[in-house]
Amino acid sequence: MKVTVFGIGYVGLVQAAVLAEVGHEVCCVDVDAQKVENLKNGIIPIYEPGLTPIVQSNYEAGRLLFTTDAKQAVEFGEIQFIAVGTPPDEDGSADLKYVQAVAKTIATYMQDPKIIIDKSTVPVGTGDKVSATVAETLAARNAELDYHIVSNPEFLKEGAAVSDCMRPDRIVIGTDSDHVKDVMSELYAPFNRNHDRIIFMDVRSAELTKYAANCMLATKISFMNEMANIAEMVGADIENVRNGIGSDERIGYHFIYPGCGYGGSCFPKDVQALVKTSEQIGYDSQILKAVESVNAKQKAKLFELINRHFNGDVAGKTVALWGLSFKPKTDDMRESSSRVLMETLWEAGAKVQAFDPEAMEETQRIYGSRSDLNLMGTKEAALNGADMLVICTEWQSFRAPDFDLIKSELAEPVIFDGRNLYDPQRMDDRGFSYYAIGRGLSI
Ligand code: NAD
Repeated sequence: MKVTVFGIGYVGLVQAAVLAEVGHEVCCVDVDAQKVENLKNGIIPIYEPGLTPIVQSNYEAGRLLFTTDAKQAVEFGEIQFIAVGTPPDEDGSADLKYVQAVAKTIATYMQDPKIIIDKSTVPVGTGDKVSATVAETLAARNAELDYHIVSNPEFLKEGAAVSDCMRPDRIVIGTDSDHVKDVMSELYAPFNRNHDRIIFMDVRSAELTKYAANCMLATKISFMNEMANIAEMVGADIENVRNGIGSDERIGYHFIYPGCGYGGSCFPKDVQALVKTSEQIGYDSQILKAVESVNAKQKAKLFELINRHFNGDVAGKTVALWGLSFKPKTDDMRESSSRVLMETLWEAGAKVQAFDPEAMEETQRIYGSRSDLNLMGTKEAALNGADMLVICTEWQSFRAPDFDLIKSELAEPVIFDGRNLYDPQRMDDRGFSYYAIGRGLSI
């Protein structure tokens, strides 16, 4: 099948690559000419495990095209995916300008019927807005062409995006058209062989499903962080509590790790956007607001621990920071806890020596050169001459480090662990002051 994908970001590029991998022909279009040029030269703009080989091989096989030419892209496929960003507006609601711009572009150039699929995360009712934009644009051209607006939200996880798209848990499709159902079933058939993963529903329910999923996940994290804070104050260990509750099947072990707050391009903005949607319809979403405020406090947690340990005397200290991306296996720094920490440390007059396996370039792009940030080539180099070690991201390579080396490199053996990677008792035995999340103050 011939498919067009607008937006070659984390979602668009991965989706396009896996569709091409199973044999579809995919035309990817983006307004970022540099990105398109790089992709044509085999340079992949993001770090995502398993992505580079499938992009390169499908590009070479001619099943994956990259262009900035929107007219050519619209002509290419009956199926037109919208996978552009929906960042938060100033008031927290999702900014639909990129989605609407694409809708207008499609309606401007289409010459035959199109199935326009919204893959971006958009508030309930966006399907109607996109439909209105397409209708107005067609009317201005005096063109009478059929089109369908479909909601097909994406559930991939950065860091596992390729496997998530290859073997999705579910494929949610919001449409009331039988023709669309047929086309979508054919498009996704290669990913739907083991058992039926397609869940058809109306457009509004599909739009809300995406927010409900992300808000549930964010709620789990904030819930555990709240439990961690209580555990710390009552002298319990949240890791024991986590094991204890996870064994109940109704709760489960997945996604109940406490830490230094959730980040990324999705949870923060999607929780905010659903709070906003609720406000607009006159509903007070109390749980979601609490999820947000618990998370904001949690992102400040590591600095609080550091500040307390050093009796408020953080100025002039050098912080070895391991982990910059908002989670492992990605280079994405959007809303990362490490950013909140670094910015607070800089304000307090501290210097940061940071290492991340994949996000150094992105950090450099965001912060440029500054005298209080040194990006180091290895995690060991980041320790050199530092006053403390802080861990913000649970990359696998941080799980069993050389503790003797850490001790000898740091001015003082103190670790602030935002991801609970180590055992507090062992750290005490090794002579470290060890601060983690919800495991009691340094023992
Ligand atoms: P992204 O910022 O990585 O990519 C968006 C791309 O769209 C950029 O390359 C940008 O240049 C391009 N673009 C903007 N306007 C365009 C236009 N008019 N025509 C063509 N291209 C245009 O964004 P992302 O992380 O891939 O997210 C895209 C959407 O998917 C968002 O709504 C997001 O909430 C949702 N989503 C993201 C994830 C994730 O993990 N990143 C997961 C599920 C859903």
